[in-house]
Amino acid sequence: MALFKMFSNDVAIDLGTANTLIWMKNKGIVLNEPTIVAFDRTTKNIIAIGHEANEMLGRTHKEIQIIRPLRDGAIADFEITEGMLRAFIRKVTMSWQPARRVVVCVPSGITEVEKRAVRDSCEHAGAKEVHLIAEPMASAIGVGLNVHDPVGNMIVDIGGGTTEIAVIALSGIVADESIRVAGDEMTNAITQYFRRQHNILIGDRTSETIKCSVGSAFPLEEEIEIEVKGRDLVSGIPKMINVTSVEIREALSEAVNEMIDAVMKLLERTPPELSADIFERGIVLTGGGALLKGLDERLRKETSLPVHVADEPLTAVVRGTGKVLENLSDYSSVLLKSSRY
Ligand code: ADP
Ligand code: MG
Repeated sequence: MALFKMFSNDVAIDLGTANTLIWMKNKGIVLNEPTIVAFDRTTKNIIAIGHEANEMLGRTHKEIQIIRPLRDGAIADFEITEGMLRAFIRKVTMSWQPARRVVVCVPSGITEVEKRAVRDSCEHAGAKEVHLIAEPMASAIGVGLNVHDPVGNMIVDIGGGTTEIAVIALSGIVADESIRVAGDEMTNAITQYFRRQHNILIGDRTSETIKCSVGSAFPLEEEIEIEVKGRDLVSGIPKMINVTSVEIREALSEAVNEMIDAVMKLLERTPPELSADIFERGIVLTGGGALLKGLDERLRKETSLPVHVADEPLTAVVRGTGKVLENLSDYSSVLLKSSRY
């Protein structure tokens, strides 16, 4: 028994639409890879996951299909998701001793069927005990908020597929909004912008790089100009053009506005006592989308509230889920209750 404890393989998982992170008890973050799977179209066997599958993007032949199984915050393909989750867990645990206890964080709007799929995947990977926690709750814990307090906190988590906004107090989610506008939508908006305004086709990876390097939601102190390479839609040959951060901001504006509207909508629905708390304490931004330049400033201007970007927003959720795993008895009240079969 003592030996078993020493080699405890308990894990906490942030199953994100863009990235999957795993926290191992007493060790911290042991895995951080894109939520991507490459599989054989005919046999459905998984060929590669994570970084390895990501490297294959755009370079496969017709027998191999690459998907992001969680694209819209929900589980698009159960079988593939299960295989991926199992492979990720196996990667960080010792084969002779599977993860016994698993805490997984799931989008707050997830259905019972989807919850069961996540639970089953973990059990098939050898877990004896599976706990689920809502994503905004995990990020709140991850950024160090005391979620048990009778005080309202607002968390905005901008991931790849969804933006999850929640007001948390007394270990529960008081009100929340979830929209399917987040990082992916912003990346797509950039691709569309180049197609429409410049007749040039650019790849998803290029759009994402542009978003992360020059994308913004508020005028920059110094606007940036960059060179973008793609394929001319008319002539079909490679082409290069110069664009500025002002244009990219314009391309992103619709998606940014939708995220801001969702925050506004939740503020309107927040009970007054909690509104007063949020007025004092402000809003915390987490998830990769929180890194968009000027998003905090823009939200500050629109809401007149204090807005903070979490330290290391990309790992907030897994750090919170990890904290729950390490102190399960203190956090039992934040776990999702779900019916078992
Ligand atoms: P998920 O929880 O859905 O897996 P993440 O929290 O890991 O998502 O965030 C991934 C998203 O964050 C991606 O859409 C990525 O493009 C975006 N992102 C990462 N860094 C930046 C950045 N510097 N600026 C804007 N977006 C970013
Ligand atoms: Mg996330």
